[in-house]
Amino acid sequence: MSASAAGKTGKGSPTGAAGAGSGAGGTGLEAQLKKAEAFLARFRAEPLGHFIAGKAVTGSGETFDNVSPVDGRSLGEVASGTPEEVAAACEAARDAFGTWRKLKGSERRRILHRIADLIERRADEIALVECMDTGQAWRFMSKAALRGAENYRFFADRAPDASNGLSLPTDTHVNYTTRQPIGPVGVITPWNTPFMLSTWKIAPALAAGCTVVHKPAEWSPLTARLLAEIMSEAGLPDGVANLVNGIGETTGRALTEHEAINAVAFIGESRTGSLIMAQGAPTLKRVHLELGGKNPVIVFDDADLDRALDAVVFMIYSLNGERCTSSSRLLVQRGIHDEFTARLAERVKKIRVGHPLDPATEVGPLIHARHCEKVLSYAAIARQDGATVAVGGAPAARADLPAGGQWVQPTLFTNARASMRIAQEEIFGPVLTVIPFDDEAEAVAIANDIRYGLAGYLWTNDVGRANRVALALDAGMIWVNSENVRHLPTPFGGMKASGIGRDGGDYSFDFYMETKNVALALGNHAIQKMGVS
Ligand code: NAD
Repeated sequence: MSASAAGKTGKGSPTGAAGAGSGAGGTGLEAQLKKAEAFLARFRAEPLGHFIAGKAVTGSGETFDNVSPVDGRSLGEVASGTPEEVAAACEAARDAFGTWRKLKGSERRRILHRIADLIERRADEIALVECMDTGQAWRFMSKAALRGAENYRFFADRAPDASNGLSLPTDTHVNYTTRQPIGPVGVITPWNTPFMLSTWKIAPALAAGCTVVHKPAEWSPLTARLLAEIMSEAGLPDGVANLVNGIGETTGRALTEHEAINAVAFIGESRTGSLIMAQGAPTLKRVHLELGGKNPVIVFDDADLDRALDAVVFMIYSLNGERCTSSSRLLVQRGIHDEFTARLAERVKKIRVGHPLDPATEVGPLIHARHCEKVLSYAAIARQDGATVAVGGAPAARADLPAGGQWVQPTLFTNARASMRIAQEEIFGPVLTVIPFDDEAEAVAIANDIRYGLAGYLWTNDVGRANRVALALDAGMIWVNSENVRHLPTPFGGMKASGIGRDGGDYSFDFYMETKNVALALGNHAIQKMGVS
């Protein structure tokens, strides 16, 4: 039976109009579409179920319709995991944990490298399916699968040493620490770049010796299935990585409450993060939360303004602006404000909205009609609060854009103040809010006057100022004179409402592993005697 295609379940078609590739033009796009359709056929043919204990499992409960944001066409029905199916996946993860944790690190390394090999081999398929499921542009998604493979390789190489710890000697004892995997973990992922984000959680968990139950977002479930198949084909033992599809409030909730799960790694909205903490509390789950952001990019008047402009545009309009680390608040020093903003507006007007599979496209359709509506609603909010809608602020309407897609114009709000809703709320679309400032102190005050604290970007050629501001910003990651360039060993995560915990390198192992201290006496310390006289 099909659950409602609207509401909180499936993506729902806004118009029901077909038209993939309608008027799209260009042989590049036509060839891409043909390939994508071939990869998508299997998902349209039968409901997408789960993957438990090494086997594809047909869902026993309701299904929901998964609709492409590109053209409103159905990408197939998806099973909504029942509590029994979640329990079966959690128990499979618990059963598999005993052997997986004991496998030599070098063997785990071998399997994880094999997974990376297979991801690379199927990179085109993953990218094409991801584009049609999420609306993300090919120019970015074609690299996302490869980044996913890189995540596996990076953690594969660290698997043999994951349990290594510290030596902490005293005069009387040798203390050493060691780490052991925490057990089966729940991984819950969002709909923006879902494949890459899933690998970012699952690869370190497996390298650490944990087993996994993954619940992908209901708005973008397809590539999680490809990943599950790849991991199985690569020789990951049955039950080590399980996948249950479904709705957050039911399937996701059941996963966070199951007693076999010892930790939950979550990426998503801040309010969902607090629900997950509450749901996991009765079973005392460790939680790692990567949540929302409203990240500032601060441009001082002494910066390299050409490079700053490139980075500002890239960090909010790439990936449709549906990116947790996007710099969605631009703080510009007053002396350069008018000229910088005018140059920025010219660039934003020229950003190419189009079919995600068209290699020329820079911004694709947003994930869902409801999300699109939310993003578009901020134009009226901006005007009401007294800001200027300098560019965009409306649906993108062009004859060559497929009907039924969630098209929005790249949008620029200027003359904003820090207290406005457009400067405080995570819009999560291709929308940038510009706020002027006078001096360093004011820039820091505006940047920190927000509930979020994920990332911060700053542009200046004054080294002292770069360091002062970097240290003063309340955010987990700061980039100076750079867009977001990720180095996998470095910590990734946020402060305040942006999250709890860090990913990356050894930080990931700290989450997926328990640290144990062993104290060995050298035999020379005095032991207090009791009951001797
Ligand atoms: P969301 O919180 O709505 O959903 C994320 C996942 O949680 C989905 O799989 C959903 O089904 C599940 N879920 C929902 N309610 C649940 C519940 N009660 N119990 C268990 N699971 C539940 O987020 P979204 O809209 O899919 O993603 C966008 C958000 O993710 C944005 O706020 C963005 O900033 C954030 N994000 C953060 C990072 C980061 O690293 N900090 C990275 C990417 C995205």
